[in-house]
Order: sequence, then structure tokens, then C-alpha cells
Amino acid sequence: MRCYVDGEWISADSGDTLEVLDPATGELVDTVPALGAKETRRAIEAAAAALPSWRSLTAADRAAVMMRLHGLMRSRTDELARLLTREQGKPLAEARAEILSGADFLEFYAEEAKRITGDVIPADRAGRRLVVIRQPVGVVAAITPWNFPSSMILRKIAPALAAGCTVVVKPAELTPLSALALGGLAEEAGVPAGVLNIVTGEPSVIGRELLESPVVRKLSFTGSTEVGRHLTRGSADTLKRVSMELGGNAPFLVFDDADLDLAVRGAVAAKFRNAGQTCISANRIYVQDRVHDEFARRLADAASSLRLGHGLDPATDVGPLISSAAVTKVEGLLAGAVAAGARVVTGGRSPGGRFFEPTVLTGVRDDLALGCEEIFGPVAPVYSFTDEDSVVARANATEFGLAAYVYTEDYRRAWRVGEALEYGMVGVNDSAIVTAAAPFGGIKASGSGREGSRYGIEDYTELKYLCLGGLGS
Ligand code: ADP
Repeated sequence: MRCYVDGEWISADSGDTLEVLDPATGELVDTVPALGAKETRRAIEAAAAALPSWRSLTAADRAAVMMRLHGLMRSRTDELARLLTREQGKPLAEARAEILSGADFLEFYAEEAKRITGDVIPADRAGRRLVVIRQPVGVVAAITPWNFPSSMILRKIAPALAAGCTVVVKPAELTPLSALALGGLAEEAGVPAGVLNIVTGEPSVIGRELLESPVVRKLSFTGSTEVGRHLTRGSADTLKRVSMELGGNAPFLVFDDADLDLAVRGAVAAKFRNAGQTCISANRIYVQDRVHDEFARRLADAASSLRLGHGLDPATDVGPLISSAAVTKVEGLLAGAVAAGARVVTGGRSPGGRFFEPTVLTGVRDDLALGCEEIFGPVAPVYSFTDEDSVVARANATEFGLAAYVYTEDYRRAWRVGEALEYGMVGVNDSAIVTAAAPFGGIKASGSGREGSRYGIEDYTELKYLCLGGLGS
């Protein structure tokens, strides 16, 4: 595939390409251009040139274009999902859900475009009026990860386009095909040339141009905390606004009054979806003493019944990890825990290739890398706890603060613990927390900014205060 810049499909000036491999088989799926600094600058210039007319459209006109894109995504869901599975590995049903979730963001923000309202503030003195309006921030750079190659882009471009911004997207080099497919649909939907540009290539080369350009007024990033820090520092010279959706280390608390069926189902989804490669995956599962053994047994039963396989096989529940390095990392974390006395209840090894068995562990010490780092694999460590205060303290003892989960039937405890957890999002008796209608985002080392809901549009608008004087008394 080629890159989409200023409404044209381009190759790299150098002719260089990057290979995109199927993580399940290692086969070549396609190649994409390895663009350089010059082509990236062209994309930024195109976005700047397209900005005045795009931001001047009425909200309804921008919404109409977005809804055409939404319609195309929905009518091509199967095709888009197959491409996503080939480059990323997740089971087809999850890929389909991702495409639909991304499309939901387009619909939500097409509607929200019409509600980007301001304020009239009661004047502090006679003869003038104080008015606040919201305007688009301008050209936006969006850098996205490989674990959700489609929806992570839509979560950024939907509010950006709704607000009247134009965008340069740099998808992850491991999964650029879904992004470029989206470019094709945008062209078909009538998104004007330059409003949405998609560039692929060496991250640091493209990243440097995006960071150093004074034209790019905002950077929206999803990825690791380490790269997020680098990009935040790199945004300082041009004082860009930044939104950072970074790593997580989600605690999953199960109290002894919880509905255990619900809790096990929630844990399976929060742990094994996308083979555990999500920033809100349950990373530490804390279960109260009285129900610990039963919960661990039930979770292990559920985990051992999940089928590993190629994502395109309809029988597959869990696909491969993204790379062999990811498998090595998971093996290392697991080996460290086992050496420190943890017990493998089910799973525990790679059956070959980039696959890793759904795994449940008990007896894990709190201070190990397994509990302190993002596992990003299908390994579920189950810890035990005795009382509420101590488990909340353990849950909060991390630099991260993205998502947390609590299972309890006691509504007072649900409120108390929900408020005490230092996280941007808390699922209470529910682990499927992602929706276009709600603000997704973290605190602490998990970043800043929110995606989804009416709050999400704020990241793409600037407030302007107009003081209208000389109006007499
Ligand atoms: P992950 O751990 O999910 O792979 P990364 O933070 O490594 O997350 O990557 C997320 C995105 O950031 C990808 O699109 C990647 O290409 C991009 N990226 C990585 N390093 C840089 C960089 N130096 N400049 C710009 N983008 C980068």
C-alpha cells in the first residue's frame, strides 16, 4: 500500500519500504513506504493548507463527511477486520468489534461537532460583553500503537475533525495497513485533500519532523510511557499541546461478597482480550482470602478452555503476540515469578511461534517485575488479600494510573473503593469500560487528556475570550 498525503497516494522519495508481517505466521502481508523527513513536511504543509477551509465549514457539513466515513466503515467491516487481523493477529471477532468501536467514535463526534458551544459571561462592568468561544487547535499530529491499529486512530481523528482540525497520522510501523485502508475510505467519503494525511516509516525520523514543526499545534499519542516522555519533552520547544495515553498496570479487585461468575467473566475479558496486549488489561488480580482459591480455580478453568490459533480461524479465542520479543518478555516475567515461588495453575509456556498459552498464576510476590511492569501478554497473576485498606494501598502502589476494576456486591464499598483508587477509570462489576460515550484516559505515568465523550473534544479546541466594549450602558 502507499501513503496518503494531500489527497494523493505516494511512495517514499527514496523508494524505501517497510514490510508488514502476519504475526501468527511470519508471512509477508504487504509493504508500506518508509517516508522520510521531506515527505513528512509535505504532509504537515498539506494539513496546514487544508485547515482554513475545513475549520470554516459548518459543524453540520463536517459532521456529514464524518457520517459518510462512518457508513463506509460499517459497510466494509468484514474486509477491514480481516486486514486488521492479518497485520495484528487478534481474533476476527475482536477485529470486527474494534472496527465498529472506531466507527462509533466517528458517529459520536459527528454529533458532538454541533455542540461545541461557548459562553456568555455576565459582564463585570456596564457597556461591555464577555464572550467565550471555542476554536480548533489547528494541525494535529497523531501517533498510534499497534495493539488497536484502527480504533486508536479514530479516537483521535474523530474529535479532531469534528472540532475543525486537520491531521497527520503516524500509525505504528508493525500495523500500518488498517490506517492506510482508513485513508482510502476517507477519500471515498469526501474528506477534502490534506484534511487527513497518513504517513508511515521510521518512527524517529517522522517523529522529529512532527515535533519540530511549529505548524503542528497539538500532539496526541498512544503508546508506551517511555516514548510518551520522549515526545512530551520533544513538544516543549514548540510548546505544543499534548494528550498522552500511556502504559497501565491495572489492578482487578475481587471482594468476597462479589458475584464470582461475573468477576471471572470480567477477568477473562480484561486479561485475555487481544492476548493481554491492551493498556487496560488486568495486570494484577487481587482476590480476598475466603474466595481466593475458588476464584483462581475458576479462572484457570476458563483460561484453559480458550483456544489459541490464527485470528482468521473462527474457532480462535486468543491470537499470537505481536512479536517474538514480546514472547521473550512474557517468558522472562513468568520465569522471575516462578523462581520466586509462584505456582502455575494453568498454561505457562509458548507452544511455538509468537503464541503464548493463557496462563494463571498464584502465590506471586508483590515486588516482582510481573506486578510492577505491564505484562502485555496472556498471563494472569492472582494475589490474595485480607482487608479493603491494604488492597487499595497495594493497588495504588504503582507509578501508573489508567484503569482499575472492582468486583463487590456492597454498594458502599463500591463507592468507597472506586473513589480511593488512583486511576483515571474504574470499572465496578464491569470490565468492558471502553465506549465513545465515556472519557478514556489516565493519571500519573499513564498520561493526560481524555478520549471519548464531550470531554474528549476539549483536547482539540482552544478557548478564546472576546471582550466586546463600547456598547454604552
Ligand atoms: P508500544 O510499546 O505499544 O509498541 P511504542 O511507544 O513503542 O509503543 O510505540 C507507539 C507509537 O509510537 C508507534 O507508532 C511508534 O512507531 C511510535 N514511536 C516510537 N518511537 C518514536 C519516536 N522516537 N518518535 C515518534 N514516534 C515514535
